[in-house]
Amino acid sequence: MPEDLYGPLRCMNPYCPTLCELPLDGRPGAFCSAVCKSRYSRRRAELARDLRDLEVAIGAAPKKDRPELRRRRKALRFHLMRHPVIDTTLS
Ligand SMILES: [Zn+2]
Repeated sequence: MPEDLYGPLRCMNPYCPTLCELPLDGRPGAFCSAVCKSRYSRRRAELARDLRDLEVAIGAAPKKDRPELRRRRKALRFHLMRHPVIDTTLS
């Protein structure tokens, strides 16, 4: 099925299924609502903070505990990839 470049787009929050209309004038919204944008920013900040904390923990952990901490770091990095910094100047 071909992609519809001009139709509604899913909200940028990866956990939100809402479709956002592309306005003909003005900036298209990346998020369906201010609340959704706020949730996204908060979640992104939490993930970044948790990743920083985990980096410190890996450095201080006994060698036997590091593989599990590294596995958790991979998971956090994956989730952070789903929450990129959104450049609204492109809109
Ligand atoms: Zn949304």
